[in-house]
Amino acid sequence: MNSRIFLSPPHMSGNEQTYIDEVFKSNYIAPLGAYVNKFEDYIKEYTTAPYVLATSSATAALHLALRILGVGKDDFVLASSFTFIGSVAPIFYQDAKPVFIDSDESWNLSPFLLKKAIKELPKKPKVLILTHLYGQMAQIDEIVSICQDNDIYLIEDAAESLGANYNGKQSGTFGDFGVFSFNGNKILTTSGGGILVSENEKWIKKAEFLATQARENELFYQHKEIGYNYRMSNVLAAIGVAQMEVLRDRVNKKREIFSWYKENLKQIDEISFMPEIEKSFGNRWLTTLTFSKTDPYKIIQILEKHNIESRPLWKPMHLQPAFKDSLFFVDNKSEKLFSSGICLPSGTALSKNDVQRVCSLISKNLQ
Ligand SMILES: *Cc1c(COP(=O)(O)O)cnc(C)c1O
Repeated sequence: MNSRIFLSPPHMSGNEQTYIDEVFKSNYIAPLGAYVNKFEDYIKEYTTAPYVLATSSATAALHLALRILGVGKDDFVLASSFTFIGSVAPIFYQDAKPVFIDSDESWNLSPFLLKKAIKELPKKPKVLILTHLYGQMAQIDEIVSICQDNDIYLIEDAAESLGANYNGKQSGTFGDFGVFSFNGNKILTTSGGGILVSENEKWIKKAEFLATQARENELFYQHKEIGYNYRMSNVLAAIGVAQMEVLRDRVNKKREIFSWYKENLKQIDEISFMPEIEKSFGNRWLTTLTFSKTDPYKIIQILEKHNIESRPLWKPMHLQPAFKDSLFFVDNKSEKLFSSGICLPSGTALSKNDVQRVCSLISKNLQ
């Protein structure tokens, strides 16, 4: 049996252990320390976001953003329906009401349905959480202007799109807040972790305060409000620094893997890949495609028999039992993508040979 091909396993740069050793030597294991600052500086430099906070996860970073924007009970929060649960769970933490918006041909949020939702909701929504799915940019210029015209805060869920850009501007830097994830299968990983960015210094300071149990600046432990334990540890930030050193290489490799899949499968009429919209540069975190005839579950099972991990696309939020009472504006785009698509192995240590092996198994087993 060939060794297992995972969907998107961690890929270390080689410097992680050295930096972790430094952390241990200094005994700044926890809570914060020099590597947290270094990691945040790296993110600032790469994304050009002026204010940055390292957190325990992207979900935590999204929660902080909603809390700072004052989202609470009875507020509507618009969100991409075609996304991962971590993107929208914080809406529930705040007791607010999610309103799920479907995708369009780009697979990302439909500006048309966004406008429709804003027009038809009984009350002005406060925030939009926009996901750049699978590392590919949403129609961000149009979405930014819709949010501005309607006085709606924009939070970019760039958990999957670190290193992607639109017109040269980095994903995560268009909104009032942007969020990145360093969870285990993302393009970079700290084993678990997140980043919150903003152009608003006060907001990031407030986020830092809330993320450290809302402790007042006193010698004793004084609390006027309740916060969270949401900061990143210095040990994990050391991993993050080593990972950031290779972000450019990782983006290039993800895009190369996509081009190998495309090359190998281009003869097959029934296959369509997730698009890259004009003026954008995606990180191709995962290579994703749909079949027009073949059942994707059949392909997933066949790949599994050959020790190759693949997965269905995200199940849209408006189809999740947990959200059965939530509002949504959909026209079946994401539902159709969900029932016809798969994510292919896209780890940055993959070889061209691995990709060819996956492609020949797909080609041999079409409908
Ligand atoms: C992974 C992911 C998250 C959550 O990130 P964590 O760091 O695991 O909390 C949120 N949104 C999207 C779109 C994701 O893919």
